[in-house]
Amino acid sequence: MKTDESGDVTSAVSLRGVRKTFGDVTAVDGVDLDVRDGEFFAMLGPSGSGKTTVLRMIAGFETPTAGRVHLGGRDVTRQAPFDRDVNTVFQDYALFPHMNVLANVEYGLKVKKVGAKERRERALRALETVRLEGFEKRRPGQLSGGQRQRVALARALVNRPKVLLLDEPLGALDLKLREEMQVELKAIQRQIGITFLFVTHDQEEALTMSDRIAVFNAGRIEQIGTPAEVYEQPASAFVAGFVGTSNLIEGDAALSILGRKGVYSVRPEKLRVDTELDAELPEGDHSATGTVAEVVYAGAATRFVVDLDAGGRLVAMQQNLQASSMDVLKLRDARVRLAWRREHEFSITGPM
Ligand code: ADP
Ligand code: MG
Repeated sequence: MKTDESGDVTSAVSLRGVRKTFGDVTAVDGVDLDVRDGEFFAMLGPSGSGKTTVLRMIAGFETPTAGRVHLGGRDVTRQAPFDRDVNTVFQDYALFPHMNVLANVEYGLKVKKVGAKERRERALRALETVRLEGFEKRRPGQLSGGQRQRVALARALVNRPKVLLLDEPLGALDLKLREEMQVELKAIQRQIGITFLFVTHDQEEALTMSDRIAVFNAGRIEQIGTPAEVYEQPASAFVAGFVGTSNLIEGDAALSILGRKGVYSVRPEKLRVDTELDAELPEGDHSATGTVAEVVYAGAATRFVVDLDAGGRLVAMQQNLQASSMDVLKLRDARVRLAWRREHEFSITGPM
């Protein structure tokens, strides 16, 4: 691993106290971030939380109002985009419609005055990486959405950047294609080993693809961690709600159900729904009774929304192992007991 002058381990991308204001709008409000070499890193958050602005400051399209941006241990805060060893894949791909695929991929190298032979070789290799051999002569209009996405990726990879920045790269694709491309993007990243920093508002996408995730809220990072850490130990009520269903047990309900004060959460798939309210509980379980307010049948699983007698509402997700749609739908308005292992409830301690 590389180190900088002071002997600290260098990161592919480091942000220190980065802020950005546009007039009286604070888009980014003091962000510290370290992305490791070769990492697949997601910036996840709702629309308007500052993700794109952070990405644009890393690329050099925006200058921070305060703070520093480092790439590979070098301060690039004041450097122009073309002096930075990064490339950006935009959501709309921005392909040239009148050029064929090969010309689109070669374009950046041509601007950099790379010779024709090397240009061609590198472009063909980039197209091979994204599995588009044989598509060189097509125009963007003759490609599917997923193929256009891959051309945009090849066009960025051909420059061999240290870091690839991707802003909602799969946002324009329909669900099925998006899921396929998630797997493919991840495989490509593993194969070429460069750092991917990508922006998404889709929690499932971030959980599926990333080594680590930074969860953004209103221009700040609320938590940085692996998918499992962010999902199973959310640092705040915001993270619990944004990366999953918040399922909070708080106030009087916490006192009567768990026997203690505080704010707690249990993930929906950890809750078991039982119609026998006084069946014996396994050692180490907690439980709460309530009334089913809603049943949503979703094929593989069913979602139960339960209003607790102690106050508050929990969502439980049950796999449809045996039950059919008719069975589960009958449970609307039924009295049920929710039970879970104590180790699956977690206290929410971070900023609220
Ligand atoms: P995200 O990518 O998370 O949706 P953005 O970084 O695009 O969020 O935007 C963060 C906030 O900054 C939003 O309130 C947005 O309206 C504002 N913003 C972004 N760019 C500009 C700009 N060029 N001028 C004024 N406000 C902007
Ligand atoms: Mg954005």
